[in-house]
Amino acid sequence: MNKIVIYPKKVLKRKTKLVKQICEDEINLIRGMIEVMFESRGVGLSANQVGVNKRIFVTSPRIKREEVFIFINPKIIKKYGKIMDEEGCLSVPGAAAFIRRYREVEVEALGVDGKLFKIKAEGLLARIVQHEIDHLNGKIFLDRVSSKERRKHFKRLKIR
Ligand code: ZN
Repeated sequence: MNKIVIYPKKVLKRKTKLVKQICEDEINLIRGMIEVMFESRGVGLSANQVGVNKRIFVTSPRIKREEVFIFINPKIIKKYGKIMDEEGCLSVPGAAAFIRRYREVEVEALGVDGKLFKIKAEGLLARIVQHEIDHLNGKIFLDRVSSKERRKHFKRLKIR
């Protein structure tokens, strides 16, 4: 299966494409993403992090195989409050930064069965959902810190 794409690869800076149909390709992609996520001990992974330009992400906030959430074409429809916490990213190894996020979000997405579902997320799940939707919009968490702080991270990680 695909390896994790490391920033600043282009596919991580591009807005991903809406999924029109959930077919075998998408199912295989999702299976592979779940594998890569657990192998890497990550709590979330977006399709463009394995090099695929599709609007899909998977998450398992407690890193448990029996607790995996799959979001296809996710959209935040409501958001509440603000909260600051530390984040990292499998595509930006070695970096961590405090990021302000909504405390709670209501998300609409398609499940693997193609049915629309709505979920109210709080705590870590809310943070992951926002981090992953950023990925699907071509953004990483370091796009949300000051340009001065970002330059510092990029310099240390030798990203240009
Ligand atoms: Zn990430």
